Amino acid sequence: MAQDANLDFAQEKLSTRGEIYFTFPEADYETMMTLNRQLSIDDFKDGIVYAYANQQQFDNFLTYGIEFTPVYDYYNSTKALTMATTVAEMAGWDRYPTHAVYEEMMQDFVDNYPGLCRLDTIGFSVNGWPIICLAISDNIDTDEDEPEFWWSGTMHGDETTGYVLLLRLADYLLSNYGTDPQVTNLVQNMEIYINPLANPDGTFNNSPSATSVSQSIRANTNGIDLNRNFPTLNGDSYTLQPEIQCMMDYSDERDFVMSANTHGGIELLNFPWDTWQSWENINADHNWWEHVCFVYADQVEIDAPSTYLEGPGTMNYGPYNTTGVTHCADWYYAIGSRQDYMNYYRYIQEVTIEWSDTKTLGTELLNTYWGYNKEAIFLYMEQALYGLRGVVTDACTGTPLGDVKVEIVGHDKDNSEVYSAAPVGNYHRPIYAGTYDFTFSLSGYQSQTHTVIITNDVSTRLDIQLIPDGTGTPDFAGTPTSIFEGETVDFTDASSGTITSRSWTFEGGSPASSAVTNPAGISYATAGTYDVTLEIVSNGCTVSELKEDYITVAAAVPVVSDFEADQTTVPQGTTINFTDLSTNNPDDWTWTFDGGTPGTSSDQNPSIVYNTPGTYDVVLTATNAYGGNTETKVGYITVTESDLLMSDGTATRCSGLFKDSGGDGQYVDNENYTLTIYPSTAGSFVRLTFTEFDIEENSGYPDCYDYLTIYDGENTSATEIGSYCDVDLNVIGTNGVVTSTDPSGALTLNFVSDGGVTRDGWVAEISCYSPTDPPIADFTSDVTSTCTGIVQFEDLSYAATEW
Ligand SMILES: [Zn+2]
Repeated sequence: MAQDANLDFAQEKLSTRGEIYFTFPEADYETMMTLNRQLSIDDFKDGIVYAYANQQQFDNFLTYGIEFTPVYDYYNSTKALTMATTVAEMAGWDRYPTHAVYEEMMQDFVDNYPGLCRLDTIGFSVNGWPIICLAISDNIDTDEDEPEFWWSGTMHGDETTGYVLLLRLADYLLSNYGTDPQVTNLVQNMEIYINPLANPDGTFNNSPSATSVSQSIRANTNGIDLNRNFPTLNGDSYTLQPEIQCMMDYSDERDFVMSANTHGGIELLNFPWDTWQSWENINADHNWWEHVCFVYADQVEIDAPSTYLEGPGTMNYGPYNTTGVTHCADWYYAIGSRQDYMNYYRYIQEVTIEWSDTKTLGTELLNTYWGYNKEAIFLYMEQALYGLRGVVTDACTGTPLGDVKVEIVGHDKDNSEVYSAAPVGNYHRPIYAGTYDFTFSLSGYQSQTHTVIITNDVSTRLDIQLIPDGTGTPDFAGTPTSIFEGETVDFTDASSGTITSRSWTFEGGSPASSAVTNPAGISYATAGTYDVTLEIVSNGCTVSELKEDYITVAAAVPVVSDFEADQTTVPQGTTINFTDLSTNNPDDWTWTFDGGTPGTSSDQNPSIVYNTPGTYDVVLTATNAYGGNTETKVGYITVTESDLLMSDGTATRCSGLFKDSGGDGQYVDNENYTLTIYPSTAGSFVRLTFTEFDIEENSGYPDCYDYLTIYDGENTSATEIGSYCDVDLNVIGTNGVVTSTDPSGALTLNFVSDGGVTRDGWVAEISCYSPTDPPIADFTSDVTSTCTGIVQFEDLSYAATEW
């Protein structure tokens, strides 16, 4: 009967709105993959699927015989959806503007801020409403060397939060330009495109003059979900709607670097891919996506209550699940999404931001949600300024070059490369920190590859001059490149192509210039580092190669020896890399490594293994033709004992760390290990000082699923000191310290884990107690602050015989 009522409700909504929003229990994987293409799936929550359908999609869904329930809350909400029917009524940002008011406000921006913005009509909806986009930048009529960022909202017509927040973003950027430094920076250094309403027909459904959002629907007026209608990555194809076609055309005309598409119904950022789960085909820039999404989410955490931007909670398929940031297809697949289209076919880093759990947000909350997101929006946009950027020009003519492919060797895939944009020739590649080889290529030009170190949240610049095919490429070598004052260098031309003439410039050299092919005997009189430039004329074009600081000239004095190690305190078995820091051009090195293997070396920068715990000296004598000296670093290298991990057997030591079998990770299921630790110092007693402890309890110590038992002696027949679990290390021995009192000086430990649930285990410092050591005084009390009454003191001293 309930199903009959549900069906009646659904058919009524389909006939009045053309769309029904409903839930059903998740079906098997194959069925879900089919339904995912036939319905417009919106969310998965705890085994329940949320979906939209038009009449045809719904009739098809009914043939599966799956029980469904309309989302009654969505239809029965009594929240306020107050409309602004004049621009003045938008002053408090607590109303939805009618379409007429929206258009008027967008035009007002252009009228009130000439030179800062331009209004583009991207296209028209099925019902003929214009789809408009405001472009904001200083010098708006001039193409500049600036990244373009594109905001688009409410392509799902009932997800209206972005409609107002993006309109407000435009207003905020324009009205705070020149006063707010962050806004000024963005407007001066970027071109910002804002399209608040991508689906006017859906938002103003059943409102012919576009004055009410109360009957808004997800789809456009043809019943098509616009976020499932873009050209796909998997070969599925659809009839493109006009709202889609104009988005595609606009993105093709522009050179967007980053974009954000805003939605509602949940609160999160989701990054590509929608078509592939992260384990099926991870995005080339997955770590960059995580970074920039958390730039946003971390700021929201400061500006909003902790219940905001919590994300999906449970994921349907994939492993990626963190609060507020989601890899889309791990949550659910969306075939034909705008995000995948823009990333894959347009080389744009587009993210999807879901701004409110409530799809058509009550107007009284619009101010609140702006406050939650405002700062995060600005920080997120700034990311388009970071990574590698520059301008590409023709090396012969200086003409800026567009369409130059900027590809990262061994990194880019699925069209993650970017292209330079005419007429400025600028390119922008946001990328996660690292060292990358960037290749610049364009038909008719010789490709170039440059190695660049990228830092997060920093702009790194590399301008490129591409040399046309058929033109020679200048290059050269000098021998030697490190000399003493008064010595000479011979240069050899290594240029390619047919060369008409050469012009060499030798900074600090004599002669200071040359026109011969291979200038020999260039002398350098003064210590320093010097550039060398070779300019060639080839194919009527002048191109040059500059090698900065190419020649190093040292004073004619003896070496001053010095060195450093990449690490000086290491566990046994570690290789240490030594770097010669000697000055005045050493050409001979004699190293001595006490305790190292090998014990000596004549390499400039040797790598040495240290296998035995101890503290060791390192000695370097470096010389040149004028002499040298010896640098000794006493006790420079400290080699510590490696960690003792839980296992069966015995160990003999008085130092280092004792850990569970997982070391810094967790122990595993079904362990049963017994280990006896003997003192390495005769006559002393092994002591364990626990510093971390986490073993699976049942209902807390002493009721344990997994447990560590300690015996005072050489085996498990000795006196049991205790058996422990849970997280309170103070229950072990005396405040986490256990010392053997057995004549052998040994402690025996037995660890048992059951077949389910593992934890981090433990860390204990190993030391040895000698009876001749003085006692260690310590105490505690049950209260530390009182007006009247009794304070109970407890002695915690070790090995004390007198108090
Ligand atoms: Zn949406």
